[in-house]
Amino acid sequence: MAGEGEGPAIGIDLGTTYSCVAVWQHDRVEVIVNDQGNRTTPSYVAFTEKERLVGEAAKNQVARNPTNSIFDAKRLIGRRFSDSLVQNDIKLWPFKVIEGPSDKPMIVVNYKGEEKHFAAEEISSMVLKKMREIAEAYLSTTVKNVVVTVPAYFNDLQRKATKDSGGIAGLNVMRIINEPTAAAIAYGLDKVAIDKKNVLIFDLGGGTADVSLLTIDDGTFEVKAVAGDTHLGGEDFDNRMLKHFVEIFKRQHKKDISGNARALRRLRTACERAKRILSSAAETTIEVDSLDNGIDFSSSITRARFAELNMDLFKKSIELVEKCLIDAKMDKGGVHDVVLTGGSSRIPKVQQLLQDFFDGKQLNKSINPDEAVAYGAAVQAANLAGMGNEKVQNIVLLDVTPLSLGINANGGCMSVVIPRNTAIPTKIEHDYTTAFDNQTSALYQVYEGERARVVDNNWLGEFTLSPIPAAPQGIAQMKVCFEIDANGILKVSAMEKTTGVSYSITITNYKASLSTEEIHRMVLDAKKYEVEDDKHRKKAKAKEALENYAYKMKSIVNDKEIGDELDAAGKEKIEAAIKHVIAWLDGIQHVEADEFEDKLIGLELICNPIIAKKSRRQ
Ligand code: AMP
Repeated sequence: MAGEGEGPAIGIDLGTTYSCVAVWQHDRVEVIVNDQGNRTTPSYVAFTEKERLVGEAAKNQVARNPTNSIFDAKRLIGRRFSDSLVQNDIKLWPFKVIEGPSDKPMIVVNYKGEEKHFAAEEISSMVLKKMREIAEAYLSTTVKNVVVTVPAYFNDLQRKATKDSGGIAGLNVMRIINEPTAAAIAYGLDKVAIDKKNVLIFDLGGGTADVSLLTIDDGTFEVKAVAGDTHLGGEDFDNRMLKHFVEIFKRQHKKDISGNARALRRLRTACERAKRILSSAAETTIEVDSLDNGIDFSSSITRARFAELNMDLFKKSIELVEKCLIDAKMDKGGVHDVVLTGGSSRIPKVQQLLQDFFDGKQLNKSINPDEAVAYGAAVQAANLAGMGNEKVQNIVLLDVTPLSLGINANGGCMSVVIPRNTAIPTKIEHDYTTAFDNQTSALYQVYEGERARVVDNNWLGEFTLSPIPAAPQGIAQMKVCFEIDANGILKVSAMEKTTGVSYSITITNYKASLSTEEIHRMVLDAKKYEVEDDKHRKKAKAKEALENYAYKMKSIVNDKEIGDELDAAGKEKIEAAIKHVIAWLDGIQHVEADEFEDKLIGLELICNPIIAKKSRRQ
């Protein structure tokens, strides 16, 4: 946790498509604008022949460089390559993802002419670092402490991987909090004095859908239940529209563009734009010049058609609301407010389905769907850092674990130790015994999920407790302890207790997540990339300074009044030097910053005395 004197603590909403950063300052939350003046920043990282770009700059060059422009890292984080969702996404992404060690998906890019492989954690760490830089530029100070948000339905591996991303970025992740809980803070911060309320947060973002039911009472935000889908959001709606237009193009031009990465990328961008327009207009057109082989594409789509293309997905998001209410054992009539957040909650059909589900109840649109999560994260960051006013300091968050956790018992059955929607942090112990005579070791396989058989659940890791004193079956007693911290991250330990000798083992080496050594290597890599980025920035600055100076001199000698006052020989000398420098600039390929600086000094040595002489004459 942050202590005093450690500078400001910020909140980062690390989104699938956009990220947002906010800070508690001047007695309120300030959402921080990026260098382009925008309050959200694309979660994009791009690699080129020359440099690495993050955020707006990365997104702006996507059409030119689709295979090396990475987005959607959040859809990969903490997942296995063999996961069917990952396999489906890969088919739609213009960049390449391959199977790495231990079934880990690795993103393949070409950076400065070399093939590089990145884990999703590394890409996310680059986005986190960018958000930190945005905050540092705004606050004019270094920032180390952050609260990062994740979908409530993120599982243990996804949470751990997100925390690792922060570590790779050199940040101190004070807490991982759930996005809908953060949104609830944004909704409820100013309502702390009001009576106890049951609030349903409906969060439909770019890649994930989350529903949380909370009671808010005098500054305490208590989550009753969560339901979600870590793979349902705006990008799925874009994909449906994309597929629709690929078909239309096929029909119009007898050509299948599904293998053309650049065309797909450009069409997808147009689809996303059209989707946003359809939230306020009944119909819109899609136009992409020279989409494939010089063919211009133009077509239209209505709001109704868009809704029809996505109806099953929209309905899926409403089913989550039902599930959440059942888990919270609450009737829909008991919900005082239904609060919308996440960019995709703006879709009229989604709003209509939700309103119909709540029997026509007015939906609450009082929070900004793009910023509420970062807002809540910033409040929580201030709370943890001991900053902020009384209201901020009085906030208590009581969250729950989204999925049941347990071990493989009785040959393949899921023995639940922590049921889903248990309040966290929590520590629960269960006693187990041996399954057969003279058993001297026990294998503990840890799973997460709601199915009765472990094969249908998510395997998290395993360990062996050994030695166990040989005894008839059922005599040895093992205490297994599951502990979830405030970030929702799990630790499991086991102890043999019949002989008084105890063994305690903690799962740390989840195969699909990063080992300490890997994180260390990635931290070093991140520093290396930072040095390279700095070098590139320095080079670009030096080149710009030389160009600026050369063109400034050129305009001076060409200026009717000033130029004519220079003596002819001096003017000729400047012109020749500028011509030489401009020709050199046009021809260079791999030049370091100091060469630009040397050229600038050389040019200044020629030009400045001549210009100064003229000034003295005046
Ligand atoms: P978030 O993850 O909350 O930042 O949400 C981003 C998602 O919201 C993206 O998929 C956007 O395309 C989508 N989105 C933003 N504005 C709108 C809108 N007006 N209508 C429909 N979807 C939108």
